[in-house]
Amino acid sequence: ALVAGARIYVLHMRQHRLSMEATNASLNQLNAHLHRIATTDALTGCANRHHFQERLEIELARAGRHGRECSLLLIDIDFFKRVNDQYGHAAGDEALRQFAHIASGQLRSQDELGRLGGEEFAVLLPESGLADAVAAAERIRCEIESATMHFGNAIIRMTASFGVACWLAPSESPGALLRRADAALYSAKSGGRNCVVSADAIDTETPAPLRAVV
Ligand code: GH3
Ligand code: MG
Ligand code: MG
Repeated sequence: ALVAGARIYVLHMRQHRLSMEATNASLNQLNAHLHRIATTDALTGCANRHHFQERLEIELARAGRHGRECSLLLIDIDFFKRVNDQYGHAAGDEALRQFAHIASGQLRSQDELGRLGGEEFAVLLPESGLADAVAAAERIRCEIESATMHFGNAIIRMTASFGVACWLAPSESPGALLRRADAALYSAKSGGRNCVVSADAIDTETPAPLRAVV
């Protein structure tokens, strides 16, 4: 009876362990799912604003520790309201997905594309100086400009404007870097859109409507 009891006990324990393992596996899956929801923009699949901001802070701290460069692109799709007005909101949504897909295709695995809101995106480029960041922006700009998107019978085309800034080591804050990129984006918009403007090319004290100069 003692041996039989011990066997039953061992069997119970094994079942218990198996069910604990199964519970752990599904908890891990659930956690991964929750993490994805919390960090991802549901429409485009790229990083959401919160996650992008976190990644920006982490990468600037890392760049500071290792004495490396880091750059930032701010991107705003041109006249996007017209896409919605002409083709409907669903077409606008599809255009945003397409934009994220095309932009990601031009980036390295360590770069982060984020949707800051609406039709505004940002790209973080660790270990990239201004020239590389401008080149990346120009690649995305060209791909977007030449892409055609089919939605029902409509063929939709888009352009986007870009502001580029390279982190001012060792102490520029993430907010200050964002503001410089934003001033450059503003300049790209007022300079005629569909262009890339570098923060170094503008007087950030008075963001004036300059033409795209790199
Ligand atoms: P600009 O060249 O000056 O940037 O002009 P714009 O029309 O792109 O800028 P504006 O800020 O006037 O309009 C942005 C539009 O983006 C308005 C809004 O309806 C649209 N939009 C924002 N978020 C979404 C979204 O999630 N889906 C769709 N379909 N449209 C969106
Ligand atoms: Mg906008
Ligand atoms: Mg816009």
